[in-house]
Amino acid sequence: MSITPLMPVYPRCNVRPVRGEGCYLIGERGERYLDFASGIAVNALGHGDPRLVRTIAEQAATLMHVSNLYGSPQGEKFAQMIVDSTFADTVFFTNSGAEAVECAIKTARRYHYANGEPHRHKIISFSNAFHGRTLGTISATDQPKMRDGFEPLLPGFQVVPFNDLEAATAAVDANTAGFLLETVQGEGGLAPATPEFLTGLRKLCDEQGLMLVLDEVQCGMGRTGTLFAHEQYGVEPDIMAVAKGIGAGFPLGACLATEKAAKGMVAGTHGSTYGGNPLAMAVGTTVWGIIDTPEFLANVRAMGERLRAGLEQLIPNHDALFDSVRGRGLMLGLKLKSDSRAFVAHLRDNHGLLTVSAGDNVVRILPPLVIDESHIAECLAKLSAGARDYAPPAAE
Ligand SMILES: *Cc1c(COP(=O)(O)O)cnc(C)c1O
Repeated sequence: MSITPLMPVYPRCNVRPVRGEGCYLIGERGERYLDFASGIAVNALGHGDPRLVRTIAEQAATLMHVSNLYGSPQGEKFAQMIVDSTFADTVFFTNSGAEAVECAIKTARRYHYANGEPHRHKIISFSNAFHGRTLGTISATDQPKMRDGFEPLLPGFQVVPFNDLEAATAAVDANTAGFLLETVQGEGGLAPATPEFLTGLRKLCDEQGLMLVLDEVQCGMGRTGTLFAHEQYGVEPDIMAVAKGIGAGFPLGACLATEKAAKGMVAGTHGSTYGGNPLAMAVGTTVWGIIDTPEFLANVRAMGERLRAGLEQLIPNHDALFDSVRGRGLMLGLKLKSDSRAFVAHLRDNHGLLTVSAGDNVVRILPPLVIDESHIAECLAKLSAGARDYAPPAAE
């Protein structure tokens, strides 16, 4: 037997965390890392936030799970909070981002079905997108590494170039249900939708009765400095998938929709055993209550500006390695002139700094949203030292 008990689908690195303290992770050998990866934009409150820990302990002792056969006072309370501070009128809770996107796709298709137009099923999505790993969500990407060997995938998806309004417009036909996109692409390399693109898609949707579906699984929940990234464009979606930061480490996702968009989602059409259980709802209520405040979001913007300015200052000193800075708020990317994966490994192994590699040779910098200036200074010092003693692997 040579296969590992953990199915070997991840090329795991040699960091083996056993404890977290605020913005730091501690490994098996007691070594410390500055965690500017945050479990890939999940640990918005860092590690061990006492408010979150208390919520989980208290709710676990009170009531953890019952099933959606019963009324949910906890779910009603949290859904009301979400409805009160977003475009949405209604929410379906899931356990992950991919499930939230699945629900969003089903909601979009079902909207047209409920309107007596069941042929309008096609979802147009975009190059370099990442929407998750289910069969439905991999059908919405064009990336061979996620699709190969899993075909046939779901019919009814078409991928066109991101930020190309003309291509998106041309792809619409009589069978189109809507568009699915990340407001700021995460895995794809931190490309934000351009304002012209997003407003153009909104207009197209309004004119042709299409659903605008945003995937803010990574860029939502305060990550870009507003509760949701689309707020910065003055554009509202019809449907939106949320996850990652919404549970701050607890597995939780949500599909938000307007009343109009959720027209077809009536009793019996969708479900989840765990989705929205009392423990998840208690966590979500606590996390949302912390993130959705003017002070919290102002701190994300202020720290985001500091970090961005610091990164920009590093570029001229290391211009053989660093190309440019992209992203918004505390969803920042440092584009390299060589392989980002090798540099991420160097920062991790030799400087105790955790970041995440993304497409297009971008080093993703996704700190907890609760960082202060000392963490930024430490990150910049590590990046600068890392750039100085880095020898890029020889080009192939
Ligand atoms: C992470 C991610 C997903 C998938 O979320 P999971 O919780 O891994 O299923 C979907 N969309 C985007 C934009 C993501 O970043």
